[in-house]
Amino acid sequence: MNSGMTANTDVAIVGGGSAGASLASALARGGLGVTVLEATTEFPDRVRGESMQAWGVAEARELGAEAVLLAAGAHVAQQWNPYAAGHGELPPLPMDMMVPGIPGSLNLRHPDACQALLDDAAARGATVLRGVAHIELTRDGASSTVAYDVDGQGQALQTSLVVGADGRNSTVRKQVGITLEHQEATSHIAGLLVDDLNGVPAEFDAVVSDSDRFTLLFHQGNGRARAYLCVGDSAQKAFAGPEGTRRFLERWNDSAYPWGKDVAAGTPAGPCSTYPGDDTWTAQPFADGVLLIGDAAGHNDPIIGQGLSIAMRDARTARDLVLGGARTAEAFAPYGAERMQRMERLRLIADVLAAVQAEDADNRPARHAYFLEKMGSLDPELFPLLIAGFAGPETMPEESVKLPWVERIRAA
Ligand SMILES: Cc1cc2nc3c(=O)[nH]c(=O)nc-3n(C[C@H](O)[C@H](O)[C@H](O)COP(=O)(O)OP(=O)(O)OC[C@H]3O[C@@H](n4cnc5c(N)ncnc54)[C@H](O)[C@@H]3O)c2cc1C
Repeated sequence: MNSGMTANTDVAIVGGGSAGASLASALARGGLGVTVLEATTEFPDRVRGESMQAWGVAEARELGAEAVLLAAGAHVAQQWNPYAAGHGELPPLPMDMMVPGIPGSLNLRHPDACQALLDDAAARGATVLRGVAHIELTRDGASSTVAYDVDGQGQALQTSLVVGADGRNSTVRKQVGITLEHQEATSHIAGLLVDDLNGVPAEFDAVVSDSDRFTLLFHQGNGRARAYLCVGDSAQKAFAGPEGTRRFLERWNDSAYPWGKDVAAGTPAGPCSTYPGDDTWTAQPFADGVLLIGDAAGHNDPIIGQGLSIAMRDARTARDLVLGGARTAEAFAPYGAERMQRMERLRLIADVLAAVQAEDADNRPARHAYFLEKMGSLDPELFPLLIAGFAGPETMPEESVKLPWVERIRAA
């Protein structure tokens, strides 16, 4: 409860993760007074995104965040190599050719990325408060009050704009009364940071289709990589509990990835957690004086690793609107419309990938065969649809979006 000082700020950003910290830095550079209220005192490994797609890197460059991530040690992946059980190595995916001028996807441990971006925001003049609790938002016409506790003291901010960048369970979103649409998961994603992968080639990242799972490996340098396993409903609890980490690593032993055994012999460098491959979205991630960005505005199924790129575009769009003076729901409407279409397209890519690679299916080999045939022949409808996950959802051909891809794959 607020019993202390009330300060004024141009923009109050709740949540200092990738989305909130990038926006804070960009707005501070644009001359606005920015205060970031971040719940954690230290960013934990919550098993989140650590590979940013090329289209997200382009947005990060626009925002000034790419240089910050590179300075923090981000690893550039110029190429991803796909492998499939029964087919071996497939033609590589050139990440350095997805967006002109962008050298590849960008890999960095999530807590390190958030810390670097938040440090940059502070260096650019934003006020950053850590260990903030009990956010309470009160809106009154063009002005809002954000009450919060920090160091056991009640404080408050008076502002004309509150940005909710507080992740999937956004407090700001709930307090403003914005609800999200939800699509249930048909697959689940488990992740683990793995060290001591010194025998595993780090020049390319790997995406691997095995008969009952889809696995991904994103290198971070110095023998470290973020590994993910995507599985159907039947295996969603396979990596839970005290034995979960061991079971996660063991699943790499019989992988189509030639260095699977080296991954299995790696050293866990963080927690192993599993998340549902669900999607959320809203047509209106805003209200008068309030804007939601990043996961707070809705998240994409992590199977296609888009959340960081979504966060970068959200932050870049928000920067442009807010520096241009936008504060009302009406002024934020173009962001809502673009984001709605963006999330719809990314949802389609994730649905296709989950149907081919991860959801429980008796006809998995037939689904794989259908998919590999389409990709191998550079099918003019399906190939660009999937490449849009790397090059950006706006590159997806409009006519492909309308085709019943998931039904076709399930019926293979
Ligand atoms: C298993 C998994 C794998 C993924 N893999 C990828 C990938 O490979 N590539 C990719 O691009 N994306 C991936 N993602 C998605 C990506 O991690 C997220 O979309 C991205 O981190 C969202 O950033 P954000 O800043 O919106 O939210 P978060 O990273 O969740 O940050 C929100 C911040 O708000 C703070 N906060 C929360 N509540 C409050 C409060 N009440 N008051 C103050 N602060 C608060 C939190 O402490 C946190 O720092 C993955 C996600 C999962 C679950």
